[in-house]
Amino acid sequence: MTIPFVDLKAQYLNIKSEVDVAVGSVFENSVFVGGHFVIEFEKSFSEFYNINHGIGVGNGTDALFLILKALGIGPDDEVITPAHSWISTAETISYVGATPVFVDVDNLYYTIAVESILPKINPKTKAVIVVHLFGQAAPVIEIAELCKKHNLFLIEDCSQAHLTQEGNQLVGKFAVASAFSFYPTKNLGAYGDAGCVITSDTNLALKIRRLANHGGLHKDEHLMEGINSRLDSLQAAFLSVKLRHLRKWTDQRIQNATLYKTLLKDKQEVSLPSVRIGTKHSFHLFAIKVKQRDELKSFLRTCGIQTMIHYPTALPFEPAYVFLKHKPEEFPVALALSHEILSLPIYPELSEEQITFVCEKIKGFYR
Ligand SMILES: *Cc1c(COP(=O)(O)O)cnc(C)c1O
Repeated sequence: MTIPFVDLKAQYLNIKSEVDVAVGSVFENSVFVGGHFVIEFEKSFSEFYNINHGIGVGNGTDALFLILKALGIGPDDEVITPAHSWISTAETISYVGATPVFVDVDNLYYTIAVESILPKINPKTKAVIVVHLFGQAAPVIEIAELCKKHNLFLIEDCSQAHLTQEGNQLVGKFAVASAFSFYPTKNLGAYGDAGCVITSDTNLALKIRRLANHGGLHKDEHLMEGINSRLDSLQAAFLSVKLRHLRKWTDQRIQNATLYKTLLKDKQEVSLPSVRIGTKHSFHLFAIKVKQRDELKSFLRTCGIQTMIHYPTALPFEPAYVFLKHKPEEFPVALALSHEILSLPIYPELSEEQITFVCEKIKGFYR
């Protein structure tokens, strides 16, 4: 048996007729950037989130960049962000000219450690970007209160958290604006790069729309300098198809996670993911924490099981952030995670038999 980390072909085969119709419609229409399919997707995604504005953009990184830019964050400003995330969260802060201020993550939930935020707030601090990492809701309610008290913008990076909930509210709705990635392997993924910003702030939405399209809403309008970060029609049409399946796929991910937890619960060597009480985890990733991680990963590979590491180096220790001169003792949790974390396949189409196989091999390794 071979088990890939994700299986987009299996997903495609399940929705082939819908995808093929979507491709045909876009080519019939022959508008490839903007237009009907983009408007339709923006409408259905914002309705799905029950929020006023959804702005399709080129990718999730641009979504973060555009939010920061539109909020006027720039040189001399600081933005607080977790030490354990994908690099987009931090690099977009630098890209607007501000400084990323890293905060360690929580030992149990792997999301930003709330108690570590306050000591990093100073007069230069303008915003906090929370990341709902792996699909786990970060403690947004507490962080939103903290931001309100200190007059900071709260931005949510929902790139791994489509349909994640805090209470009965979807995450992405606690921030002034939130960023989504539709990279192909994300829970809602396009067949190429794509992203989106959601916000309830009409002025901010307009500004982001302009910034993403050379400073204007149409071809010859340039009210400011902007960039080219638009959602294309094919991706929008694919996303509209896939959005119809997102609830079902999320439920399947949660079921897969439950099965993993049941099968591995007696294995002391394996720390299973904990879900914060009162939240719904969307299991973009199912990350276990283990000793001898690299040996286990190699062993699983020899058994035909593909796993991944999210992420092998905590952001403050990436060469890109050497200039910030951080020391290992500043981020003990993020540092330990980078050595111990291992993501198992969790995609919706996985069978019970495949999950059982993975668990048997893991148990065999620690026997
Ligand atoms: C995927 C991802 C992004 C960026 O998305 P792209 O669409 O690849 O630019 C940002 N933040 C996090 C946490 C992500 O996982």
